[in-house]
Amino acid sequence: MLSDKMNSRPDKFRKVKLRSTLFLLIAAAAVVGLFLSSCVTTSSNQVTINLSEAIALSKSGNIQSVVVNTSSGSMTVKASVTGAPLTITDTSGNTVQVKNGDELTTNIDSLNIADLETMGFVLPADYSTNAASSGSSIGSVLIVILPLLLFIGLIYFLMRAGRSAQNQALSFGRSRARLISGDRPRVTFADVAGAEEAKEDLREVVEFLKNRSKFQEIGATIPKGVLLVGPPGTGKTLLARAVAGEANAPFFSVSGSEFVEMFVGVGASRVRDLFEQAKRNSPAIIFIDEIDAVGRLRSGAIPGSHEEREQTLNQILVEMDGFDPNIGVVVLAATNRVDVLDPALLRPGRFDRRVTLDRPNTAERGAILEIHAKTKKLEKSLDLATIAKETHGFSGADLANLVNEAAILAVRRNKSTIGMEELEESIDRVIAGPERKSLRVNPRDRETTAYHEGGHALVARMLPNVDPVHKISIVARGTMGGYTRLLTEDRYFMTASQFKDTLAVLLAGHAAEKMMFSEVSTGPHSDIRQATEIARRMVTDYGMSEKLGLRTFGRETTSSYLGIGPGEEKDYSEDVAKQIDEEVHSITESAHQIATKVLQENKPRLVYLAEKLLVKETLEGPELEAAFSEPLPETAAKAAKESTAQEASGSTSKN
Ligand code: ADP
Ligand code: MG
Ligand code: ZN
Repeated sequence: MLSDKMNSRPDKFRKVKLRSTLFLLIAAAAVVGLFLSSCVTTSSNQVTINLSEAIALSKSGNIQSVVVNTSSGSMTVKASVTGAPLTITDTSGNTVQVKNGDELTTNIDSLNIADLETMGFVLPADYSTNAASSGSSIGSVLIVILPLLLFIGLIYFLMRAGRSAQNQALSFGRSRARLISGDRPRVTFADVAGAEEAKEDLREVVEFLKNRSKFQEIGATIPKGVLLVGPPGTGKTLLARAVAGEANAPFFSVSGSEFVEMFVGVGASRVRDLFEQAKRNSPAIIFIDEIDAVGRLRSGAIPGSHEEREQTLNQILVEMDGFDPNIGVVVLAATNRVDVLDPALLRPGRFDRRVTLDRPNTAERGAILEIHAKTKKLEKSLDLATIAKETHGFSGADLANLVNEAAILAVRRNKSTIGMEELEESIDRVIAGPERKSLRVNPRDRETTAYHEGGHALVARMLPNVDPVHKISIVARGTMGGYTRLLTEDRYFMTASQFKDTLAVLLAGHAAEKMMFSEVSTGPHSDIRQATEIARRMVTDYGMSEKLGLRTFGRETTSSYLGIGPGEEKDYSEDVAKQIDEEVHSITESAHQIATKVLQENKPRLVYLAEKLLVKETLEGPELEAAFSEPLPETAAKAAKESTAQEASGSTSKN
């Protein structure tokens, strides 16, 4: 299938090898040359003396041998010294110590041996003319040749670099799509857990890529474009790869942001190239990940900056219109912001098929965990279904990460298999961050936290429309002092009473602190924020306020001023705004009252729970159940009474 790609590879490989060999050769030559030239320079680094000095030395018998080099007009003598070094003066007037065997050079211009002898030079028996040593002759040859070689090499490289830069400049507009072929581990639908409907939809595409003729015979055309929509980490990219794996077709994967470069027009030409490549390799799949990077609604929020994106988007539209659906190219695209996409992209004939991926439900989470546990060593007794229940709201990517975190934790604990403790700890880490055991919490803060979390848990336990409590902890994690985890069930919508009870649970931490210590800490601030958010949505989005009735307030816009993030448009009067605020306030206020009432009625239980938390730090499973339901000892009831008395006196003194 990918024949032309495959064949071109060994050739390219050979070229690369050849080039590196050449480079090595030149480098080696350079090293040898440097070495030799350094030898030559040391031997030429001799003492130069005047001729008269040389003659004097020869007369005193301090010369063993002489070499006369007529071509350079110099004579080299080797000193013969017995005993202490001789002190002589060189040409520049410095005094030099000469030892036995030292070489001294003298300039003799055009004088020959006979001339020297007439000048009084006493020739030793060992003398020669023009016999430059063979070693130094090779050296001098190399000195001449090496720079030449290096120079030629340099020119060669410069030319090559120039050529490849030219290539790069030319390929600038090429698509950066990565061709994912058989050598990558193949992903199939079996690697994607859950998402049954999505898989069903995509199976059709696979079928089409595998045998087009069947579709053509009956006259059916397959959608050119399929848009995968879903929150981050729900397996959009994974699913697209699985389609390629199932169809066994070349898969050109590119991310939307890669189209957008600094230069206008590059994106468009990349799109053109991408489609060209895919058509050449048909049947093939083009996958544009994060298409919202280019496919955003065309609007003139910031003039200029949108130009490039717009051109790229236009090119995508043109290409998608341009090819015959029967050519066997299917374009898959993924996004988590379908609301910001340009409607032109979603028109029939382009991305007219939409596949939605949702956060997995409990059963699907179990299946995803199963898949990721396959490659890890887990304890035999491990119950992944329980973990699935506890991980409400986790995406596929979160779950994959969870299993991996647990594996790392197991290694850190020197265990050979992953146990339930590691998985549980990893859930807490993902939700609330790592434990901060080293943090020294002062006793008063610990107590506040215990009552705060106890309050959340107790109200959750007592109210009918709230999920069961799974775990309470007062170990500091991340930025939280403690936390209470509920076992959230899968549900598709929330009723008004569920919202109300949830609000009461959220505000119960605050209520408990207020009740026990008659003042509150900064602890509940995120609870309050969350509660306010829910209450506001009840009023403005869900029509759950009797007073304001069935309508929504505020309209989400695709881009705010300057196009940064989604904005909100106010479609109501100032008067209504005030009413909304009042409604939100009254909803949170009544939820707080419910929480306070529940806590007051169950005060001894709250005290008991908090006391247990202070000792055990974490309560879950049977221990937690016992803390909720076992008969209360005398002490808890007494402590509750005492604090009530305290509170009463406190409030009277205030009044
Ligand atoms: P998205 O593209 O939707 O943001 P990805 O496809 O990149 O998400 O998913 C990230 C990782 O999460 C995948 O590589 C896979 O390990 C895991 N994952 C997500 N969804 C699933 C699923 N349904 N089944 C198995 N693994 C999944
Ligand atoms: Mg992705
Ligand atoms: Zn809280």
